[in-house]
Amino acid sequence: MPKNQITTKSSEETKEFAKILVSEWLKINKTKNSNWLVCLYGDLGAGKTTFVRGLAEKFGVKQAVNSPTFLIIKKYNSSKKENRKYTLYHFDCYRISKSEDILDLGWEDIINGENNIIVIEWPEKIEKILPKKKLNIKFEFVNEDTRKIKFKNNIYLKL
Ligand code: ADP
Ligand code: MG
Repeated sequence: MPKNQITTKSSEETKEFAKILVSEWLKINKTKNSNWLVCLYGDLGAGKTTFVRGLAEKFGVKQAVNSPTFLIIKKYNSSKKENRKYTLYHFDCYRISKSEDILDLGWEDIINGENNIIVIEWPEKIEKILPKKKLNIKFEFVNEDTRKIKFKNNIYLKL
């Protein structure tokens, strides 16, 4: 049975989990020129942005990753990974009232582009326009330092 749930006991462990996912994804994405859409569900403080920090680090993003709540979207360049340069788009849809609002932010180009890593906090706000092919991850608060992280394992992620 593929693993589809983990418990982390610190923000470092959550970042480490993100890094493992990235390396698994990089392994299977070697020959393709595709995008990766990752949707992060969970309440405020559940650890979504912490996860994005780990993911960004693994992609070699140099800048500090902060929650884009007021900006909705932040863009980062990765360093070269497996001979390819990725662009990381970090969305926070908390303040979006309807799915269509995201379309004004260049959504179609980003989703249909190449080598884009698209990570979305509060994806439920734009559920209507989300493509089917994505990795869903759900973060749950257990106690101050502990989070339960559930994800729908795709065939291409062998954890
Ligand atoms: P969100 O983006 O879901 O609102 P953040 O990642 O911004 O959440 O905040 C999570 C907070 O919880 C941070 O202050 C982080 O240090 C803390 N934290 C404590 N334990 C964990 C854990 N196991 N995983 C992730 N964050 C944790
Ligand atoms: Mg956040």
